[in-house]
Amino acid sequence: MTPQTILKTKFGYDTFRIGQQEVIDNTLAGKNVLAIMPTGGGKSLCYQIPALILSGVTLVISPLISLMKDQVDALNENGIAATFINSTLDHFEIEERFNQAASGAVKLLYVSPERLDSGYFNELAQLPIQLIAIDEAHCISQWGHDFRPSYLRLTETIQQLPTSPTIIALTATATPKVAHDIMQRLNINEEVKTDFSRPNLSFKVVKDQDSDQFLLDYLKVNPDQSGIVYASTRKEVERLTKLLNKNNVAVTMYHGGLSKLQRQHNQEDFLYDRLPVMVATNAFGMGIDKSNVRFVIHDQVPGSLEAYYQEVGRAGRDGLPSDVILLFKLHDVQIQHFFIDQSEMDNQNKHREYLKLQEMTQYANTQQCLQQYILNYFGEEGPVCGNCSNCLDDRESQDITVATQKILSCVKRMDERFGKVLVAQVLTGSRVQRVKQFHFDQLSTYGVMKNQSQKSVSELIDYLTASGYLRAAGGQYPVLQITTDGLAVLQGKETVSRKMAIQAKQSLPVND
Ligand code: ADP
Repeated sequence: MTPQTILKTKFGYDTFRIGQQEVIDNTLAGKNVLAIMPTGGGKSLCYQIPALILSGVTLVISPLISLMKDQVDALNENGIAATFINSTLDHFEIEERFNQAASGAVKLLYVSPERLDSGYFNELAQLPIQLIAIDEAHCISQWGHDFRPSYLRLTETIQQLPTSPTIIALTATATPKVAHDIMQRLNINEEVKTDFSRPNLSFKVVKDQDSDQFLLDYLKVNPDQSGIVYASTRKEVERLTKLLNKNNVAVTMYHGGLSKLQRQHNQEDFLYDRLPVMVATNAFGMGIDKSNVRFVIHDQVPGSLEAYYQEVGRAGRDGLPSDVILLFKLHDVQIQHFFIDQSEMDNQNKHREYLKLQEMTQYANTQQCLQQYILNYFGEEGPVCGNCSNCLDDRESQDITVATQKILSCVKRMDERFGKVLVAQVLTGSRVQRVKQFHFDQLSTYGVMKNQSQKSVSELIDYLTASGYLRAAGGQYPVLQITTDGLAVLQGKETVSRKMAIQAKQSLPVND
């Protein structure tokens, strides 16, 4: 049977979605392939169809134990022989399922990466595995936002398999760096990437506002809409849930501290629209397929732009206009910084996490189209969306070339060896000990911006970093360096402009 016939007869669809056919053709030609497709793009069929055409077994590696059973049930209902092996089964059941697969009674075998780790290699090596599908493949890369050591060990296991299976790696979020890493580790030469833009999402960044008030106001003007509010800690999820409840918003919550039963119950309340608003940590959402989510609001900044794009991707799956809003407060970045600092990670990993957080901070500070900014981040081109808070920002642009030159020349005079705080202190003529210690009060740029607050100079530095005139290099204590664009400004070859914050309290257009 051809892929097209299977699509129709087994799955009931007439046409392939973008990218599917290409991935399937590569796989059937025995070429390893990396498929990068947005959530809901139809990644599963990319390995399920080849699995039905190939004579051997297809091994599907998936970290989502809770989804495995659903997927297998759905396949079984379609008359496709599939089963799964994960930590919910005892040793006896696992052996039995391996035997089933070895006897050819199963076409697709779903396994969690941890099970592959735990002494079942011999059983695996007995199977006629022809294809290995690695779902959520970004977990393999330390540059990804959800790195898992068990995924790294997976590459060794695969290499040792006697059948040399074809590999298909699938993910919804991979920057060029992560994609490269996955391809290298799994020996993949083909990449199929489909459009990442989400034209029905209106991206918004709301800076330095009272986020509780913003939330309440937003929910008041958007009553009864289904949406997710993300917070970074369990405590904050509990606090927000209480706050919204008190203000008569019908809300439920989800975080890792709730019992499994409670989580399932709350999740269903949300999925079946019994309670429209879900307040949750990032533990919520993987694999959630709810089409009418009208907004995703981040009460606190997440740790990376990849995590952010994956989380906001849960809005507007039905294609209707939806809001995704980041409530950005510098304080929250400091908290994330603290989390990384206190974590058990080694220095190299900490360094990476700091960099990702910096990239997230830059997103909040850019004045470029937000949708375009994210696409560029993922290595894609795209037009301006015309619909994000930056595109809709109708404040006048002001020429800030001179202020920029002051900052850049100060950075240069400090030998590009110091961070934002000290640079802002020198520019505003601060008398703190560190300035004196390094004799920066002797520099010609000392105090040249003393009529401005340290905070506003700091923000301007953030803006120049987000706009690519400065680069914040290094991890925990990034130092400012001048980029080639920055040099052009210093040499008077380029001008810089910025839409300036209005003094009066600004309210964001939430419903346009
Ligand atoms: P992903 O894993 O990329 O998030 P899924 O594989 O779960 O996405 O697919 C999302 C939905 O799209 C599923 O309901 C699936 O049945 C449906 N789907 C996949 N391919 C097609 C297609 N070619 N035509 C119509 N619907 C499809």
